[in-house]
Amino acid sequence: MRNAQKNFSKNLLLTDDDIGDDHIMTSLSTPMRPDAFDLSDEEKMAKIEEHFREIMLTMGLDLTDDSLRGTPKRVAKMYVQEIFSGLNPKNKPTVALFENKYGYYEMLVEKDITFYSNCEHHFVPIVGKAHVAYISNGSVIGLSKLNRIVQYYAKRPQVQERLTMQIAQELCNILGTDDVAIVIDAHHLCVSSRGVQDVNSSTVTAYYGGEFMKEARKTEFLQYLNLSSKSNVTEVLQS
Ligand SMILES: [Zn+2]
Repeated sequence: MRNAQKNFSKNLLLTDDDIGDDHIMTSLSTPMRPDAFDLSDEEKMAKIEEHFREIMLTMGLDLTDDSLRGTPKRVAKMYVQEIFSGLNPKNKPTVALFENKYGYYEMLVEKDITFYSNCEHHFVPIVGKAHVAYISNGSVIGLSKLNRIVQYYAKRPQVQERLTMQIAQELCNILGTDDVAIVIDAHHLCVSSRGVQDVNSSTVTAYYGGEFMKEARKTEFLQYLNLSSKSNVTEVLQS
């Protein structure tokens, strides 16, 4: 695994608005407080419900309305149990490795893994496709586990660069090899639905480790992906 963290000290010159608008990541690990798991999920949901109710009331919404009454509770449950469940290590997928009995030592590519994440600067969705590849060094991983690892790290407030690197790091650790590649192609709703309101752009990030740093391997991987089918992401958004 290459050292992903360079010197971020120049970030000190940036304002919070700069960091949000330019989607700058300040660390590879998700910034967490030391007391992150002192509260139970139930306690967190109760607190979030209370605070989200306050946000809605501040915006002037009438919470006695039948349609709005249950929203704070729904949002709290959704945050803790669904869209941000990847913050809690207890939800990390357990991964069993198998012996590579087939003698298959070419790359394995799992492509078009659809994921939903949320931008940590605006808390609006990031919708995308992850393409993951590795070359076995003796053990193999169940295909559904590749998908589950992507989903686990997606279910956090994220920036796409960090999501890419966290998935890469996890796969390198689990598989005991640097021969891992990831490409993520995603659409950020904070870019399309607000801010510059660019509905057509998508963001591509990549990680190439070990063998994949060689041009021939990288090219082979990218050919399997046929990245020109960018419409995939648009289809996800429209469905
Ligand atoms: Zn954003």
